[in-house]
Amino acid sequence: MMLRIGQGFDIHRLESGEGLTLGGLWIPCDFRVIAHSDGDVVLHAVMDAMLGALALGDIGALFPDTDPRYQGADSAALTRIVRDRCCHQGYVVGNLDLTILCERPKISPYRDAMREVIAQVLEIAVDRISVKATTCEQLGAIGRREGLAVQATVLMLAHA
Ligand code: MG
Repeated sequence: MMLRIGQGFDIHRLESGEGLTLGGLWIPCDFRVIAHSDGDVVLHAVMDAMLGALALGDIGALFPDTDPRYQGADSAALTRIVRDRCCHQGYVVGNLDLTILCERPKISPYRDAMREVIAQVLEIAVDRISVKATTCEQLGAIGRREGLAVQATVLMLAHA
């Protein structure tokens, strides 16, 4: 198989705080993510999409939250491990499409910087990475600003 598609989803609770890390980028705002790791919901969804494409399990299996090594873990470092594992299997990310669901913070001012950081982590060109965002129109838990969710779709290409 030359092409494999994967999807990832992650959601975390929010609480009052000084900011959050999304897609490897620090965004100052009135919230923080409640998480065992650094709570980078974007990179968690990206990793699960990559692992899913290659049927390699999920980040919960690879980096268990019961393991103290992953307390406050840098999700960019974990994503590099996943990238290397995929590369070892013979695949690189062809393109990645993300949707961030949150009421706040506003993502658009950070969109291109986030794409650049993800491109560096995955070692691919930035034009292969799409970051989109939507609110939930004040509906449900995300609409009440209790949480933040991310959907990721990735196409993995067999490298030569
Ligand atoms: Mg997570």
